[in-house]
Amino acid sequence: MTAAATKYSRQRECIKEYLRSTREHPTADTIYMKVREVYPNISLGTVYRNLALLTEQGEIIKLSCGDGCDRFDGNTAPHYHFICRQCGRVIDLDMEPIEHINTIANAHFNGRVDGNITYFYGLCRECVPD
Ligand code: ZN
Ligand code: MN
Repeated sequence: MTAAATKYSRQRECIKEYLRSTREHPTADTIYMKVREVYPNISLGTVYRNLALLTEQGEIIKLSCGDGCDRFDGNTAPHYHFICRQCGRVIDLDMEPIEHINTIANAHFNGRVDGNITYFYGLCRECVPD
């Protein structure tokens, strides 16, 4: 491996480690700020490129939350997410996967349903009015 390739793979490891260590589902900008603490010269472009690669390799998950800015998750085990409509926080939901939703969908579809992506939304504990 060339020196440059080694540097890039270390940066990629750093991004992966950070995402494994947090349950905050950070945006690319937040990840960039975090990784810069270790690699002050890293560019936002490099962070984006590494995030795309890690997503492609299935090492991390990209969450498209509908607010136009993607978030990233180091936990690749199947799990559901709750998105707060007010503060935008993305929270893991500790619940059993609803697998039979694919069976139901298949029963009403002429092709073949292989999966689904479901987001729950509402107000998080901090945003629910007292
Ligand atoms: Zn909230
Ligand atoms: Mn998650």
